[in-house]
Amino acid sequence: MAKLKAIYISHLHIDHHMGICTVLLQRRNLLQRLGLEVEPVMVIAGRFMSPWIQTIGEDFIEDINSLFELFSTNDFMPDKYWVSNRQRVRKQLVQRHVTNTLGLTEFRTTLVGHCRGATGLLLRHKKNWSLVYSGDAEYSRNLVALGKDCDVLIHEATFSEEEKDLAVLHKHCTTSQAIQVGQEMNAKFTLLTHFSQRYGRVPEFNDSFNDKVGVAHDFMRVRLTDLPLLPMFNHPLELLFSSERN
Ligand SMILES: [Zn+2]
Ligand SMILES: [Zn+2]
Repeated sequence: MAKLKAIYISHLHIDHHMGICTVLLQRRNLLQRLGLEVEPVMVIAGRFMSPWIQTIGEDFIEDINSLFELFSTNDFMPDKYWVSNRQRVRKQLVQRHVTNTLGLTEFRTTLVGHCRGATGLLLRHKKNWSLVYSGDAEYSRNLVALGKDCDVLIHEATFSEEEKDLAVLHKHCTTSQAIQVGQEMNAKFTLLTHFSQRYGRVPEFNDSFNDKVGVAHDFMRVRLTDLPLLPMFNHPLELLFSSERN
């Protein structure tokens, strides 16, 4: 927590952004306890985050506005329209600030179909590994293009194949669609996450799983070099958690 430098908010649904106040306050408390300076943490989020966090910052029992510095995901997207020289330079400066602070060479976002302003993310490290995160998203061509040849894709897999219609209605992916996105972008590894409550801690395993697909849990830590081992856990996990299914 003391080393936390940035928080990326993919979209404004409470399971994705609500915890930020607690994180900011806990981080501040910890830094104070350690006798360290409380530098604001970078928060990179869509434009709807700004009014929300300002309001919550004012209403919150403690003032959180000084604990973060807000950046817009728009500043990490390609330009849609003509932009002035001044806007272009400002955007470059923002990008440079964020990438330098995080030890990255690239930090890019793209719009994905889910709710207004929902984005996915690509980051590339100085050591040249790259990571793509879908946020919540239906099947997204934008994300496939953004993540071309990445090392790791972290993709939501909310619904099973039987719930295809629900996936369409709520703009989420099924497990197979998430795996397909990884295949289409030629990701070296796909890590599935964000499973429907119905399935508990694991997704519905099916035939689209292969040796480049693993399952993630909250707080799980895995080295890039260990990713190829993860698929070995798929079958044991299925056996272990199948009784939890509703
Ligand atoms: Zn969502
Ligand atoms: Zn969600």
